[in-house]
Amino acid sequence: MSNHEQFDVVIVGGGPAGSTAAHDLARRGRRVLLLDRAGRIKPCGGAIPPRAIRDFDIPDHMLVAKARSARMIAPSNTKVDIPIEGGFVGMVDREQFDEWLRERAASAGAVRRNARFERVGLDEDGVSTVIFQSGDDGERHTVRARSIIGADGARSAVAQQTVPGAEKTKYVFAYHEIVEAPAVKPADYDDTRCDVFYQGKLSPDFYGWVFPHGGTLSIGTGSADKGFSLRNATTSLRTAVGLENAKTVRREGAPLPMKPLPRWDNGRDVVLAGDAAGVVAPASGEGIYYAMLGGRLAADAAEELLVTGNARCLAKARKRFMKDHGKVFWVLGIMQYFWYSSDKRRERFVSMCEDKDVQKLTFDAYMNKELVRAKPLAHVKIFFKDMAHLLGLAKV
Ligand SMILES: Cc1cc2nc3c(=O)[nH]c(=O)nc-3n(C[C@H](O)[C@H](O)[C@H](O)COP(=O)(O)OP(=O)(O)OC[C@H]3O[C@@H](n4cnc5c(N)ncnc54)[C@H](O)[C@@H]3O)c2cc1C
Repeated sequence: MSNHEQFDVVIVGGGPAGSTAAHDLARRGRRVLLLDRAGRIKPCGGAIPPRAIRDFDIPDHMLVAKARSARMIAPSNTKVDIPIEGGFVGMVDREQFDEWLRERAASAGAVRRNARFERVGLDEDGVSTVIFQSGDDGERHTVRARSIIGADGARSAVAQQTVPGAEKTKYVFAYHEIVEAPAVKPADYDDTRCDVFYQGKLSPDFYGWVFPHGGTLSIGTGSADKGFSLRNATTSLRTAVGLENAKTVRREGAPLPMKPLPRWDNGRDVVLAGDAAGVVAPASGEGIYYAMLGGRLAADAAEELLVTGNARCLAKARKRFMKDHGKVFWVLGIMQYFWYSSDKRRERFVSMCEDKDVQKLTFDAYMNKELVRAKPLAHVKIFFKDMAHLLGLAKV
């Protein structure tokens, strides 16, 4: 056995998934190392549902804006306002939010290192090692890890090195521009509303958005079509909303992995969480809540492995996640495939959202991550509407 420092859990990636896992495990008294390479702000619209705020104790001062309504805009420019009754969607600035999450983990006892993960290795006695390059001294370091959580985001290096099937995921590429909120607001601009554009010219298979962030806004779009220019579409969107001359703070993009990987663990000592495990919701692109939940479930699984020594526990992270959210991901995948495929269908989709029952169900599902059982007839109505469209029985 080498004399490298040993940790109970080494967590690669200090985004919402990794920091949540680090916080949970450090609070249990585990010896945790949290590796994150400094210097890059995660490109993100920053919208989080109340469920995330509740479950992960996110303080109010982390919210740079609160959206009180969402507005869907159809190809014809028809607009449907959906008030968020009795609540709000929180908006976080990822530069501050992620740092706050990492610091919370550190104050619970996790050791933080500014470092770039390189690879997982094996010590002479069969214990895994994690090799990384320090961002402080530039040196390569090795530590021993009784377990490893791969939370290093989309195209995770940990996943690719250790978990079979990690390459099997589908991506939508998302791009946005952060712009300064103008002193004089353009007509029709409301900094408590999220605008969502379902228009083929802005995205052939996803949507475009304008999200308020307090002093700034996130304006962007996404697509799985590599030939589609997300930059040009974002320029068109900025012009359409009268923000073409607003000062641009950042231009950035990243892939959204929208298919949970078939396996999240290596059957030995590694478990994945968040984007590394492929869990951004189809149709909505929501990933922060699912990453934090994935981090928590990975932490539970690693803890169980440490207590029992039984590597099968690691598979429980995926199992628990899919039990609660697998169906929703599946339905959202079909929704995206069907409703986002032509302007005719987008037009119909937005008009369906005028229905109060559809609004309520959609928002309850988003805000609280559970379907409300109180209105079974509304479910039936929506189900039949959806089926009629899917089977081609209704005009689109
Ligand atoms: C343009 C855009 C808009 C989005 N808008 C929203 C939104 O409004 N709401 C929402 O819920 N989701 C949104 N998402 C999705 C959301 O950002 C992600 O799902 C979420 O950040 C996933 O969290 P994570 O912790 O799994 O990964 P990440 O946030 O990607 O964190 C991974 C961390 O690992 C670190 N890392 C990576 N490789 C290494 C390495 N080799 N060594 C050390 N550290 C490493 C990175 O620096 C990073 O800190 C958006 C995404 C994009 C691209």
